[in-house]
This record gives sequence, structure tokens and C-alpha cells, in this order.
Amino acid sequence: MGNVERLVESPFPARWSDNWVIDMRRWQDHLTFGRPISSGDQSSDGSDEIILSGMVISGDDLLVHPGYVCLKGGRIKEVGQERTRMEEHIIAPALVNSHTHLADGLSKDPPYAPLSQLVGPGGLKHRLLESASCEELRSSMRSAALEMLDGGTCAFADFREGGPSGVSLLLDALHGLPLISRIFGRPDPGGTDIHPDCFGLGLSSTRDHPWEWVKRAAVAARSRGMHLAVHAGESGRDDIESALSLQPDLLIHLTSATPADLEKVAGTGASVAVCPRSNLATGCGLPDISAMVGLGINVCVGSDNLMLNSTNLFREMELISKALLHDDRQVFKMCTLNGAKALGLEQEIGSIEVGKAARIMVVSASSRNMKGSRDPLASLVRRAEPSDILAVF
Ligand SMILES: [Zn+2]
Repeated sequence: MGNVERLVESPFPARWSDNWVIDMRRWQDHLTFGRPISSGDQSSDGSDEIILSGMVISGDDLLVHPGYVCLKGGRIKEVGQERTRMEEHIIAPALVNSHTHLADGLSKDPPYAPLSQLVGPGGLKHRLLESASCEELRSSMRSAALEMLDGGTCAFADFREGGPSGVSLLLDALHGLPLISRIFGRPDPGGTDIHPDCFGLGLSSTRDHPWEWVKRAAVAARSRGMHLAVHAGESGRDDIESALSLQPDLLIHLTSATPADLEKVAGTGASVAVCPRSNLATGCGLPDISAMVGLGINVCVGSDNLMLNSTNLFREMELISKALLHDDRQVFKMCTLNGAKALGLEQEIGSIEVGKAARIMVVSASSRNMKGSRDPLASLVRRAEPSDILAVF
């Protein structure tokens, strides 16, 4: 167990999950594919190196090659190409979930209903949030965060309601977990104060709020150097124009956007987080991701509302690849580097590059599910499940 404990200590300061320890036990069985951590492998400054070998998906272009990745001090020290006996391991950048509502997991999988009845003002979501205790919310968000880690996600962007105290609750739920969070908070009704640890202001459709308040809240967020994210074009296109007038950094959904709308979006440079499983659950149709990509929009992916969807990005990737894009490389990029860009993290995570943070997942290509794969990237996108993950750094 000595190796296991040191692996746990090396990337992260604390044990954050029983599952992590279990994963590490599974991992230990595979240590022969890389050099296990031992005193002989310690570098001169005393920090440990971890060497992973297998089929590496490296660089911003997601090139697949046999080789190795050397991690040291929590960063990627070296990426090499060489033949390996361990091609049944896929070494890939960890995933980025660009849009979640983690607090909405208190009543999962309600009856299908129109969007307005589920998440609109006064809808099921808001009634549940109002009646939930702080501990129920904290516990639900903690479970969702652990689920994301189990699913290979290293960073996420959450829309957190409930004003500054709602954000404090989420920060409490995330305590000690190695997840990079970008929280888009919301002021208390009528106010403009956002929790200072927020990355930005996150608004539901502009039609859900008094327009004068929306403008004041956006100006206040900007004056504090915060980003702005807005739901738009989810159940109709009538809120797209007003959302664009706020000059947002990130738009969510755009399911109903016309080609002309998308051209305007492309002209602003805003990123777009698409959430197709959510759109299907609410009957809103599907976004034209192909057109978005063609216009050069930075398209990223979110699992959206936890009431409607798990945080499992593998399911999201399979749907997008098979139903909407037929381009596995582009889909994987949306869930890694594009997500990192949308959250201002592209210098740190999103691809396997020397100098970036060691945010990597190792996926088995020899599990019952993955065995027989001839294309690691295609299988990762179209078939892989969290249960195929051997370890997440
Ligand atoms: Zn949303």
C-alpha cells in the first residue's frame, strides 16, 4: 500500500473520497505499465514523478500515439512517443463540464414537462430549492461533485442561485475536493452583490427577470471584473438579442438560434455551452452544433440541470458525436480544451501539454466495454463510461 498512499499524496494534498482509494487499489494492479513510484524514482528535489504509458491523446490537436506522460509536482513534465506494451491504457486530458446546476439534484428525473414548468420562475426546480434545507443542498452538491470526479471531470462551471449565501454553500460542499470550480453566482432578488469568490454572474433567460435589474446586475458584475454567462435561445429565440446586448462571455443552449443569430454570436467571440441531453429532456430540440463549429464559435458542453441529467459527460459526448456531428475529435475537444477556454483555464488544463497541470484520466481500453477498440479517441467519445476509468489525476 505504500505506493498507493504516495500516489494519493502526490497529486493532491488530501484523500478526498473513498472511491479514490479504491481507484488507487485498482491502479496499483496496473503499475507495471508505468514505473511505479519508488525511492529510486524520486527526483533530486525530492518530489515524486509519475510516469504513465499507453495510448496518449496529446496536444491541442488531440493526436493519438503510443507513448508516455511524465508528471511531476502536479504538472506535466514530459510527453514522449515510443512503442509501449501497454496500449490498452488510454491517457487523455480530464474532462471539463461547462454548465451545471449542481443544487438541482434533490428530485431527480421528474415527469416530463415543458421547460417553464420544470425550471421557469415558480417552476418545480425553484419550489424544491426554496423548501430544501441548507444541509440537504450541501449534501446533494457534494454527491454531485464526487460523481463528477468519478466521471473523469476535473473542472466545471456551475450556475448557483440563492445569492451570496447560496455560493457559500457550494464552496462548503466542494471543500477538499480536487475540482476546479468556476461559479457563476446570482445576487439576492433586487440586489447586485455577488459572492466575491464567484468567477462571474450567471443569469437565466433575460425574460425571467426585470430588464432594468438584469442590466444593473451585469454592470455591477463587470465593474468587479467578473465574467457574464446567460441562458439564451433555449425554448425560443426571443431572448437571444437581449442576451447579446449584455456582451456575455458565455451563452448557454442557443437551441433555437437561427443561422443569422449564430453569425451574430460568432461576431461577439462569446463561447457557447451546449447541453443536448437537457434540451431533449425538456423538448426544446437540439442545437445546431455543426453550424456553430463551422462559424468558429468556441463550443463547449454542459450536463446542465442535475434534476434532468447526470453529470456524466461520456453520455453527452456519445449523443453529440452520433446524433449531431460525426466528428469524435471535435466532440472530445468540446469537453476538454474548449471547455477550458470558456472558463479561462486553457493555459492550465484541457490538453496534455508540457507545463500544464496534470489533470489527466487513464481509461482502460481492455475493459469488457472497451475491448476490441481500434480507435481510442472514437471509443472514448462514443462508448466509454466512468466505470472504464482507472484513475484520474
Ligand atoms: Zn442551465
